[in-house]
Amino acid sequence: MCILCQQGQLQNQHRFGSRRNFLKGAAATGAAAAGLGLFAPRRARADGDPPDGTGHNGRRYVIRGGAVMSMDPNVGDFPKADVLVEGKKILAVGPNLHAGGAEEIDATGRIVMPGFIDTHHHQFETALRSFLADGVLIADPPSGPSGTTTYFEFILLTFAPVYRPQDVYINELFGGLSQLDDGVTTVHDVSQIHHSPQHSDAAIQALFDTGRRAAFGYFESAGANILGTNPGNKYPQDAFRIKKQWFSSPDQLVHMIMGGEVYLSDATTEASWTIGRQLDLQIAAHILSPFGIRPTMDALAAGTGGSNHNIGIGPDNLFIHMTGMSDMAWQKVRDVGAQVSIAFPIEMNMRHGTPPIVRMQSLSTPQSPFEPSLSVDVECTLTADFFTQMRSAMNLQRMIVNQMTLDSPNTVPGQNLPEPLDWGLPQSANTVPGSFPYWPPKPANVPPPLTTRDVLRYATINGAKALRLDKKTGSLTPGKEADILILDATRINVVPLNQVPGAVVSLMDRTNVETVIVAGKVRKWKGQLLDVNLPKLRSQLEASRDFIFQAAKVPQNLFSGQ
Ligand SMILES: [Zn+2]
Repeated sequence: MCILCQQGQLQNQHRFGSRRNFLKGAAATGAAAAGLGLFAPRRARADGDPPDGTGHNGRRYVIRGGAVMSMDPNVGDFPKADVLVEGKKILAVGPNLHAGGAEEIDATGRIVMPGFIDTHHHQFETALRSFLADGVLIADPPSGPSGTTTYFEFILLTFAPVYRPQDVYINELFGGLSQLDDGVTTVHDVSQIHHSPQHSDAAIQALFDTGRRAAFGYFESAGANILGTNPGNKYPQDAFRIKKQWFSSPDQLVHMIMGGEVYLSDATTEASWTIGRQLDLQIAAHILSPFGIRPTMDALAAGTGGSNHNIGIGPDNLFIHMTGMSDMAWQKVRDVGAQVSIAFPIEMNMRHGTPPIVRMQSLSTPQSPFEPSLSVDVECTLTADFFTQMRSAMNLQRMIVNQMTLDSPNTVPGQNLPEPLDWGLPQSANTVPGSFPYWPPKPANVPPPLTTRDVLRYATINGAKALRLDKKTGSLTPGKEADILILDATRINVVPLNQVPGAVVSLMDRTNVETVIVAGKVRKWKGQLLDVNLPKLRSQLEASRDFIFQAAKVPQNLFSGQ
């Protein structure tokens, strides 16, 4: 039995043997301490506390009187309704539910909806938050300040190689709890920090200990694999041990995805994709404009990728970014039913290429939708907040399609093209008839502007589909597990409530995330994460940060320019 379990402080099920091994293996480097005392004991129950024993077998409670947005078209929306939960699962959604003696959570003035799902997040970088706020992906000195402190040189080549297992643990745990506080109940953690099996075990243990739904993405040993500083690196072969040791049960909050980067080498692609498919795992990869990935992706689309020219795209793929790919590759991704995760803010900020939302819309039909999920990527540059995700997605897409519409009378070759420095229409612009001459109708070939409902779908059920979790989560559907947000619409930044999707996407932020439930268990209540020792977590994250900067020989400078 693990120490935290004996103290009754752990939130979730996990592999006891594995945890013991992790702590034992990590003891020599002091990692054991990282796992201790981070979860606060629950005090005696008082009035206003959440229902007792939430998430336990047979334990029932009902969320009463909220505006329920199920994100399941077969369930629908309700201006005022209830959600009945038993154990891990949703039993019923509807008005005036009979709940017997079930305890009640009053949701008057609240919005009740499924938790957000982040399909790509490098949680091991939490201690580096905002360090790279001005940086782009790769060194580019002539471009000015953004060109000198960059992701590849600093995050991957300088910081990542010095991580110890205990750094991985506290970074993963803290980043996960922080997103839980924001209402993100599921994550795909793209951990690229596998310098040794102990690093892998620390990442996985942290995902279990966080107590939210997660996919552990087993990727390479970032930076160190290039520098050759990781003799203990067992990627990708250690996937067999990891799957067997940690992920033999489908009935747990954490499952596994195989990382299969295609820009490392054809040999790595061959090995990782083959192992992933042997283990029946999804295979995820970053696909983006730089790094010469386009011809590699074309080969994969043709079924001739990898060193043996026999690797092809399948429905088991999850592609991240997908900026700058060919028509042929896109068509294949769409035809086979592979998944796409777009990190809108990061792609715009760090020069990955324009988020390919209009491309996806152009390949989508009502009968067979082709839509992305959303992902935050890295907190060294931008927030992991999901309201930011949704607003960025909507604004970027609308910027593009609105400009396409304004330009539409002027797109005859050689005529009246807008000025690219401000995208304004020239004096000689073609006008359209009517009382507002520069207000053209949207042409048929320009996709419709995204709505708040669209981006909410991307942020919830699409994320569940992207991680093969849509039978378990992503909507408030009876029979699914209860991953639920209660959002306070009475607060000063939202009231009065006039339109539910609009209030969530256009107005809300973390302060509105009042209660967060994962698999029936209340994890955040009335604005506070439950059962965590935040001061201790914070001091361990700061200690990890201090070690990482010192070991990487990067001075800490609160007002550094990039
Ligand atoms: Zn990434």
